[in-house]
Amino acid sequence: MVAQVVHRSPPSSASEEDGVPRRSSASAMQSSVLALNRNFHPVHVISARRAFCILFKGQAEIITVDDGQFGNYTFDTWLELCEMKTELGERQAGEDWISAVNFDIQVPRIIRLSTYDRVPRNTVKFNRRNIFLRDGHRCQYCGKRYSSTRLSLDHVMPKSRGGGDTWENVVCACVRCNVAKGGRTPQEANMPLLTMPTRPKRSPLLVRQLASQKYSVWRTFLTSADAFEPTH
Ligand SMILES: [Zn+2]
Repeated sequence: MVAQVVHRSPPSSASEEDGVPRRSSASAMQSSVLALNRNFHPVHVISARRAFCILFKGQAEIITVDDGQFGNYTFDTWLELCEMKTELGERQAGEDWISAVNFDIQVPRIIRLSTYDRVPRNTVKFNRRNIFLRDGHRCQYCGKRYSSTRLSLDHVMPKSRGGGDTWENVVCACVRCNVAKGGRTPQEANMPLLTMPTRPKRSPLLVRQLASQKYSVWRTFLTSADAFEPTH
């Protein structure tokens, strides 16, 4: 069955069936899946593609939460459910579906890894992407928002004067402000910071995903202490 899951080229975008708009299989494959360990502790955010690989191998089960009720499915029982939903026209808006050669399957939002019982380290990676996300892609001096390509990283206390590569000393800045500030502190340059930079408690990308309706079901399993990084 694994080999047969080759998704067709997506139908003309936003095609509708049973009145429910369907996103293309390709984009559905890119959606995110929360992976729990054996003890129902959230450990990763992975792509749907990766989740299906794990499910095909029988190394995980699908977890659903419906009105506070939990459900669990193997790949086969999930497929049966999907067939039934398709037949009865019970697909809901906001779901992601993938069309395979012989069947259509809904992308699960949560899976539970049957043999994995480790717990990830709760630290957010200090990198460019996470700093931009923490600061909302907003220059911390002029307050304007820019795309990643037009932003740079600024050391609040300049590196040349001993400022470190830390969450508390690196902020998002547009190129213009970065150049204007030069090797000075915000006080010296008379360029006050918009907000005091701090270490985020949770991955900024995860925060963004959690805020969306699509992944709201993850909130059932995530506590404020979970800070792992989405892995794709
Ligand atoms: Zn700026």
